[in-house]
Amino acid sequence: MILQDLHTHTVYCDGQNTPEDMVRAAIEKGMSRIGFSGHCYTFFDTSYCMSEDGVKEYCAEIAALKEKYRGQIEILCGVEQDYYATASTAPFDYVIGSVHYVRAGEEYLPVDESEQTLLRGVKKHFGGDFYAFAERYFAVVGDVLAKTNADIIGHFDLISKFNEGGRLFDERHPRYVAAYQAAIDKLLPYGKPFEVNTGAISRGYRTHPYPSRAMLEYIAEKGGSVILSGDSHSKDALCCAFEKWYAACQKIGVNVVWDV
Ligand SMILES: [Zn+2]
Ligand SMILES: [Zn+2]
Repeated sequence: MILQDLHTHTVYCDGQNTPEDMVRAAIEKGMSRIGFSGHCYTFFDTSYCMSEDGVKEYCAEIAALKEKYRGQIEILCGVEQDYYATASTAPFDYVIGSVHYVRAGEEYLPVDESEQTLLRGVKKHFGGDFYAFAERYFAVVGDVLAKTNADIIGHFDLISKFNEGGRLFDERHPRYVAAYQAAIDKLLPYGKPFEVNTGAISRGYRTHPYPSRAMLEYIAEKGGSVILSGDSHSKDALCCAFEKWYAACQKIGVNVVWDV
């Protein structure tokens, strides 16, 4: 297992630490590589993302850190590109393609902001039918590589963030299963890895990473691959529970990759 984390956030977006704090913590943990993946600028919601000027500063600061820490740790400058964003991904070493919203009418409904927002949105736009919402969400996710040209598929089933123990909907429901399997089938031909993302574990929302076990088994069965990522919003969260979930991936028989 290679100790690296390519999904990290800093004070340039909604993370708690500076890039240099993250690099120092990564070196202390013995990591061989850290990749930054700040939230791209999204014109319709600036509450959690990098500003347009911030993106330039972020790139410049990480370029300087690459030089400063050369020989100690490899540093990559990536971006987490939201499906609905229009900002260019050209300046970055790699791209994580993520769906954080479902567009409903004129509204961009955030799927992971809070349980209250999610419940209100599903009620307002989908008549309270979580499976109709999931069908729309996974239709968007199935298109995320075509839209963002990403190297990594971000948190595939983010809509399950508040569904620990099946509190909101049944993840074995045939409509839910059909929706996610169709998205996986659409994404597999690109040959890009799905994240095994432990971000909701380190932040206390979930006990299982994204995607769910059933999804990982389906990805394994279809010959897809995964990459471990922490979605780390603080230096303490880097590589959260990677040993455990790397072992789980091996048990499931899904191919784990490290490079993008
Ligand atoms: Zn994300
Ligand atoms: Zn993220």
